[in-house]
Amino acid sequence: MVIVFRPDVSEADLQFVIDRVTEAGLKTHVSRGTSRTIVGCIGDEDRLRELALQSLPGVETVVSIEKPYKLAAREYAAGATVIPLGKARLGDGSFSVIAGPCSVENAEMLLSTAKSVKAAGAIALRGGAFKPRTSPYSFRGLGEEALEILASVREQTGLPVVTEVMDTRQVEVVCKYADVLQIGARNMQNFSLLSEVGQAPKPVLLKRGLAATIEDFLLAAEYVLSCGNRNVILCERGIRTFERATRNTLDIAAIPVLKAETHLPVIVDPSHAAGRRDLVLPLALAAAAVGADGLIVEVHPDPDRARSDGDQSLDFKAFAGLMGDVMALRESAALRKK
Ligand code: PEP
Ligand code: MN
Repeated sequence: MVIVFRPDVSEADLQFVIDRVTEAGLKTHVSRGTSRTIVGCIGDEDRLRELALQSLPGVETVVSIEKPYKLAAREYAAGATVIPLGKARLGDGSFSVIAGPCSVENAEMLLSTAKSVKAAGAIALRGGAFKPRTSPYSFRGLGEEALEILASVREQTGLPVVTEVMDTRQVEVVCKYADVLQIGARNMQNFSLLSEVGQAPKPVLLKRGLAATIEDFLLAAEYVLSCGNRNVILCERGIRTFERATRNTLDIAAIPVLKAETHLPVIVDPSHAAGRRDLVLPLALAAAAVGADGLIVEVHPDPDRARSDGDQSLDFKAFAGLMGDVMALRESAALRKK
């Protein structure tokens, strides 16, 4: 961390700041220029974050050199994190697609969806059991009954299942049935939940919060990692902006930024980003083009009759078409690299 002082800082104020930094266990290096004095702090920056350095008399700015996340940072790992998911390995350079309904409505619809998305090339099945709905009067999922259906469909199809856990009290039961624990956008900064899934024996699919910066997102991942769970998949699902033509704004630039910043795999949810069926394919292609490791897509046997998110759900045919187009794009990109 570097502390830049105002041109008129007094010796007493400068010394006061240096003493606070030294007391926190860091060394200082004072550099006096013609108009300004700068103090470089050498040591663990985290200790300085708790001091109100920016507000001390004579201080103009405080510039952080280190990143606030460590375990999530690319430099921390020797290579990309690869998450084993059934027979697939998410993040190994292949393109992994997770698909299924927004919510599990009954056993028949989940089984037919699983068979169809598997045949189209999906590596895992999604399906909400506990649904975070904006209105408390909307369908909020079948709860444990849906978890049982998910587990039974996994038995029948061999597809690993991904489902959302909304509350610390649900972690145990969701772990009993699911292969991947999804943390929804609305819970990205639920720090007790992040710590709880950080101690769970299952990979975590962490969705970006509606108003989260990329740094907030990586710090949320850091919570999970720092509790011991190193299997975190990041999911860009659109953020809230002033734009109303789409449900959310897909931050497409976040994908290459995240790929540069972290070793964790990054997937995209074009369904919640778009909020409209017709935009799911173009957003999925964009995600594949900018280097995402995969997708999570909402698919329903009869989207017009879906109990949640029908507007943005694809039917089986549209999903198979999307898989064909996305894989063709990936192949042509790979050919061009050769
Ligand atoms: C979901 O995936 O079903 C969901 C509710 O997504 P998000 O948390 O991104 O809104
Ligand atoms: Mn949904």
